[in-house]
Amino acid sequence: MFNTLSDRLTSVLNNLRGKGRLSEADIDATAREIRVALLEADVALPVVRTFIAKVKERAKGAEVSQALNPAQQVVKIVNEELIAILGGETRRLNLAKNPPSVIMLAGLQGAGKTTLAGKLAKWLRGQGHTPMLVACDLQRPNAVTQLQVVGERAGVPVFAPEPGNGVGDPVDVARRGIEEAKRAQHDIVLVDTAGRLGVDEEMMRQAIDIRAAVQPDEVLFVVDAMIGQDAVNTATAFRDGVGFTGVVLTKLDGDARGGAALSVREVTGQPILFASNGEKLEDFDVFHPDRMASRILG
Ligand code: GDP
Repeated sequence: MFNTLSDRLTSVLNNLRGKGRLSEADIDATAREIRVALLEADVALPVVRTFIAKVKERAKGAEVSQALNPAQQVVKIVNEELIAILGGETRRLNLAKNPPSVIMLAGLQGAGKTTLAGKLAKWLRGQGHTPMLVACDLQRPNAVTQLQVVGERAGVPVFAPEPGNGVGDPVDVARRGIEEAKRAQHDIVLVDTAGRLGVDEEMMRQAIDIRAAVQPDEVLFVVDAMIGQDAVNTATAFRDGVGFTGVVLTKLDGDARGGAALSVREVTGQPILFASNGEKLEDFDVFHPDRMASRILG
């Protein structure tokens, strides 16, 4: 991801090298090229507009540094503004004062929620926590089994409805799962919920009901970064529906253009907490806006 964008930005900024002074025309031309690069990377238009306006304003402003030449100054501004649209500071998980903390996962089917549940559980174990998974995706026939497999790989227990009792009520399973976590003294509960291929009312209602019942400390919206502009539309629908407190980007290992990753924070106002970049449980990390910006600038 970001290869094309990264190449484009690097070449635009390289064109400034060796210039002693940047005229307004130089800055305007550079801003135009950055704008095209971002749009081609599928970054949402409002995000591009804000970004370009800020870069231009700062580049034309009185930011004079003794240590940097004009080209370096523009690179520095672009880098800082990229960090800003990616969320600024690294955002840590909000955990409850009185465990168990409850983290609910929401998102479309195929976004990578179940995989993420395993990744997050494994990562949390590594941080000294004792997580438990709760299977509330009762829609998809294989979802519970899939979560059990992932839980086993991550070495964490999975609370699931007993088989043979019909589809079951996900809200009830969520509640009972948390009771079980309290009893067995798990300090974090990860609640996996049902997604659909597209945003639909019933899925959203179910997510809203689960959120209301378990009052999670975090609701993480899991989104496939490969779906481009659709990621932004889906994020907006989830924000206005169940609402969420943070975003997890998945499939950053894909060769998509990366616009979703660059837009979702700015469009939804919620921070990106984690990023997934592969199918293995280890392919996962805390999302650091500054590191991502450096990667984009090559
Ligand atoms: P869910 O329907 O939201 O629970 O999605 P799943 O966890 O079942 O993931 C859907 C598919 O995407 C599976 O084949 C996963 O192996 C795959 N997947 C999940 N995360 C990633 C990732 O970060 N990179 C890649 N390449 N594939 C992923």
